Amino acid sequence: MATFSVLQRDTITHSLSTEQFDLLVIGGGATGCGIALDAASRGLKTALIEKYDFASGTSSRSTKLIHGGLRYLKQLEFSLVSEVGRERAIVHKLAPHLVVPEKMLLPLTKTGSYGRFSTSMGLWLYDILANVQSEDQRVMLNTDETIEKEPLLQRDNVTGGGFYAEYRTDDARLTLEVIKTAVNQHDACAINYCEAKGFIHEDGKLTGITCYDRIAEKNFPIQAKYIVSATGPWVDTMRAKNNSLNHKRLHLTKGVHIVVPHDRLPVKQSIYFDVPDGRMIFAIPRGKVTYVGTTDTDYHGDLDHIITLQKDAQYLVDGVNNTFPDVNLSIEDVESSWAGLRPLIHEEGKSASELSRKDEIFQAKDGLISIAGGKLTGYRKMAQRIVDLVAKKLKQEHQRKAGPCITDEIVLEGGDFKNYKKVKNYVDKIAEQLAKVGLERYHAAYLVGNYGRQTKSILALATFNEAEEAELSLAKAELKFGIEQEMVHTPRDFFTRRTGRMYFDIGSVRRLLPQVMPLFQTLMNWNDEEAKIKQQEVEQECYELSHFPIEEPTKAVG
Ligand code: FAD
Repeated sequence: MATFSVLQRDTITHSLSTEQFDLLVIGGGATGCGIALDAASRGLKTALIEKYDFASGTSSRSTKLIHGGLRYLKQLEFSLVSEVGRERAIVHKLAPHLVVPEKMLLPLTKTGSYGRFSTSMGLWLYDILANVQSEDQRVMLNTDETIEKEPLLQRDNVTGGGFYAEYRTDDARLTLEVIKTAVNQHDACAINYCEAKGFIHEDGKLTGITCYDRIAEKNFPIQAKYIVSATGPWVDTMRAKNNSLNHKRLHLTKGVHIVVPHDRLPVKQSIYFDVPDGRMIFAIPRGKVTYVGTTDTDYHGDLDHIITLQKDAQYLVDGVNNTFPDVNLSIEDVESSWAGLRPLIHEEGKSASELSRKDEIFQAKDGLISIAGGKLTGYRKMAQRIVDLVAKKLKQEHQRKAGPCITDEIVLEGGDFKNYKKVKNYVDKIAEQLAKVGLERYHAAYLVGNYGRQTKSILALATFNEAEEAELSLAKAELKFGIEQEMVHTPRDFFTRRTGRMYFDIGSVRRLLPQVMPLFQTLMNWNDEEAKIKQQEVEQECYELSHFPIEEPTKAVG
């Protein structure tokens, strides 16, 4: 029986180093985890390794929308819009608590890039391509209706608006639930903090990798019939290792989001608006904050350390002030941020924003299969294409038949809700329970949004008592759950990617960090020095996400 407990790490590395897998996936982002679930659920013996934490690459740094990609209509990418549009409905069904409906307002302005007719036609086409249900189809608004939806807009510049349906998610949690489902329900073997360092060949054919375990600080081999590199921005680094880099290569662009308290940008719903250089950005309210993004600029810096620069944050602050002058936002209002890399496919002569968001599969002579590009929204379809390819090879080369793709029916861990209404009912029920210990409805929405039905398991671990704040008891229960069931290794894993607090409630990180550290230290068996270093890593991250240097730091060597 596979496990996803950090306390069973030795069992996992033992399996990885002694068993022969049908498929080894390198990279624990949305793409890799999606592939692992697809393969394992078709009966392939599957392993996945991730060099840092699951979703620590691009898959925790997106705009966190499961969307049809309205802006790709401008680039005439109809098939992409159609595929990801249809996927949104499927992913919502698989995790209704985590992929939630979110209305989006697109204001039309005298100075903006969209006219009323083209927007109406574009949104209409979007509804058709994305197969949007009638109750969710776009509505065109006049000026009064647009201002009513968003009173922060400047009436004298607004000429109307489009109101349409999107979905919002937490990318890191979605990635995590996908890999947890692969492990818990389909026996995949997955581990974080293990890096693919080199390839093993027999007669010119790839048969395995050497892997460096960052926790145990040792190397071990993993043997597999097929190896897929789903390493996102690192795909070319991996291709360089087996000399399979050719003229087709990645073009990395950086995208930054900033987070401000909701009362500093109190938008009533998500809004997609123009910035003066002709691009468009989102402002998305979420709990106590509103986040704004994104930038899109070429990137040549350190792939392992991507940070928000002052000019990135200023661009977004200026963009907000241009559309909402009364808000008068300043860089000092920014309390957190994140920066990620889009692993796009290079096209000669095209700028960052013009590059296609389509995915691409590269097959090397030695058998290495790499996949890059694409969208979070399309992770399931990308996975299906890769596993179809592997299944074909398995049949040709090993006379073994894999099952059909069934991931459109596999409910993700915690996602066992008939529909979104049931999610809301569950929030009500949890809110009632939490009120008894003095916690607000916000905490119920937070728990259910993050963990779905697993909220029950977390509350079962909580020891609410009068001696400590209820918020702390809850955080400790989440931590126990994270270590025992979600491969939490470090406080950064916990505060950034399991709970999302680093982005959406950074104040709670500063408050809770010193208080949960003793429990962390006990559960992980760290000495005082180790615990101190781990705590400092979080403090450093809190600082970096809210203080912005002028230039990229010099690239780390090694
Ligand atoms: P990653 O998430 O980067 O995963 C690759 C993983 O491989 C990393 O975790 C890395 O550590 C690991 N790795 C690398 N080398 C090794 C090695 N040697 N050994 C082991 N592991 C290794 N898409 C949407 O659908 N909606 C959005 O709203 C959206 N917004 C976006 C906004 C921005 C700013 C950006 C940058 C992207 C956005 N995207 C969005 C795109 C989406 O985030 C990506 O397509 C997706 O997350 C890519 O996932 P991935 O698994 O391919 O890459």
